[in-house]
Amino acid sequence: MSESTSASENETSNVETPIVETHEFRAEMKQLLHLIIHSLYTHEEIFLRELISNGSDALNKIRFRMLTDRDVVNPDAGQKIDITLDKEANTMTITDSGVGMSREDLMKRIGTVASSGTLDFVAEMKKGGGPVDAQMIGQFGVGFYSAFMVADLITIDTRHANPDSVGLRWKSDGSGSYTIEEIDRKERGTTIVLKLKEDKKEFAEPWRIKQIIKKYSNFVDFPIFVGEEEVNTVDALWHKSKSDITDEQLAEFYKFVSNDWEEPLGHLQVNVEGRVSFKSMLFIPKKAPKNLYHDEYQFGVHLYSSKVFIQDDAKNLLPEWARFIKGVVDTEDLPLNVSREVTQSSPVFGKIKNILTGKILTMLKEWSVEESDRFKTFSKEFGMLFKSGLSSDFENRDAMIDLIRFESSVKEAGELVSLDQYIDRMKEGQKEIYYVLAENRKAAELNPNLEYFAANDLEVLLMIEPVDSFIVPGIPTFKDHELKSVETADLDLKKTKSSEKDGPSKSDVKKILERFKAVLGDQVEDVKSSDRLVDSAATLVVGKSGMDSQMERMMKMMDENFEGAKKVLEVNLKHPLLKNLIALSKDAENSDLVDSAINQLYDGALLADGSLTSPREFVRRMTELMVQATKK
Ligand code: ADP
Ligand code: MG
Repeated sequence: MSESTSASENETSNVETPIVETHEFRAEMKQLLHLIIHSLYTHEEIFLRELISNGSDALNKIRFRMLTDRDVVNPDAGQKIDITLDKEANTMTITDSGVGMSREDLMKRIGTVASSGTLDFVAEMKKGGGPVDAQMIGQFGVGFYSAFMVADLITIDTRHANPDSVGLRWKSDGSGSYTIEEIDRKERGTTIVLKLKEDKKEFAEPWRIKQIIKKYSNFVDFPIFVGEEEVNTVDALWHKSKSDITDEQLAEFYKFVSNDWEEPLGHLQVNVEGRVSFKSMLFIPKKAPKNLYHDEYQFGVHLYSSKVFIQDDAKNLLPEWARFIKGVVDTEDLPLNVSREVTQSSPVFGKIKNILTGKILTMLKEWSVEESDRFKTFSKEFGMLFKSGLSSDFENRDAMIDLIRFESSVKEAGELVSLDQYIDRMKEGQKEIYYVLAENRKAAELNPNLEYFAANDLEVLLMIEPVDSFIVPGIPTFKDHELKSVETADLDLKKTKSSEKDGPSKSDVKKILERFKAVLGDQVEDVKSSDRLVDSAATLVVGKSGMDSQMERMMKMMDENFEGAKKVLEVNLKHPLLKNLIALSKDAENSDLVDSAINQLYDGALLADGSLTSPREFVRRMTELMVQATKK
């Protein structure tokens, strides 16, 4: 591993002087150190996280060992981490009463970088050229050496817990070699002294060190003292049992992880042990953050590895649609030095994500059944994002469809219903779930195609969120009931309540429909007598191959060359206007007026539908018709 030159400094007979061994770092290690010292510029404060986590690991080891074996050096030493700062000397000292290190540990574990990824790391950094983010350093397990970003001399004094151990001092300036010598040390554990670089004096400032601890190591399981002050006072809440956590603690912790000032809408604590082990505390906020749909939105789940902070915007722990969720996931199944790239693809993440997603959906289901107010707030704030998940999260589709909500023609504005509730209210013999897509509630209610449904007490879902037009095509049926737009032309409609008798004769109907077709030409696919209209004179509906008009508008928005399918014009033969037109058209003298009225009806239907493209012509014709109507 390393070449021992065993260069004792005093070849003379003075046996009192300890022997100092000098060891060369291997070439690869030298390159790495060179890069750490000269190329890392951002996030250099993570060195402290690395040292604290090493101390915490060492404390965990001795704690575990002492459960069964108290025959160790200093069995009564407190288990903690102490940091002392000396501005004069420009040093930072970190001491732990952990398991300590033997000579072999110092040479094999500190003296060499074990990770096989190290060479890749070196190559990667060389390639980069520009400033390198120190977060990268975690990638290849060079944790301890990150301290060379801020120190030009590091001394490790250590004594292993084994009763026959000796005190040892390791020393290096990170350039080419390190020394090891025996020292007189009574205490178990490790003391690391960083002689800070001239331009890194900030790390001898208590406020700066405390700030870094609060950011990265707040939940470490052992007390961390800076001078006399215990800094990491926030308990790792997610490690406590549910019954030991008060509402105040929950709220406080939520505010800490979310930067929200309000209490959360709800929380979920998940502890899993098995093929994957993790502890997690998740929160749903009361309000959707303003930037939830923006690119810069920060995912809110903090990732920890055994209480040591790793990253605060872990993406792959939850599906995209759940990005409003804040909280913490802590797993022992990831090494501390996990990189973001590994994070994205680790199977551990996939497993955690599956479990958490299932738990979240179960909780939402419970809310929807037992806590309607809470669920309503959830749907209002996050329903749209949740719905959008339907087009990507296929595994959870069924559970998600149960939880989506819409406004309804039989409910007040703002009230939301589920597809299940709709089915429960379906009329006898009704097979389909009817919906109308519109930009808002008003527009939906004014859609003439709704008249038939209103007249027959048939509930219609008012799909007025922009996302609805994306997801509806993906839900062709729900529990064997087809979802049908009220615009779909071949609705199998029962006859309306009103009687058939007052309608015009068959031959009159045939003639007037032909007249309409002749006037409108290929602007329409067909002209038909309508069953669905009650109060309006005409409406446009979707032809056999066409799509819902709202959906078509959306397509046009996304693709300006999109050609919508032609519509079918349906006319209400019981409407006075149609009756008048039938009568008028029997006399050739009125031919211009009839044609004008037909064009106007068609344009009016386009207008109601939101598709009128020539308002000038519409207004001109309307004025002309009004002139006629007001004559004399
Ligand atoms: P990692 O923590 O990922 O193993 P590091 O470079 O941070 O990598 O540490 C290398 C090794 O050095 C550790 O695994 C541990 O064996 C040893 N070590 C570092 N710091 C301490 C310490 N304070 N107490 C005991 N052992 C330590
Ligand atoms: Mg480490």
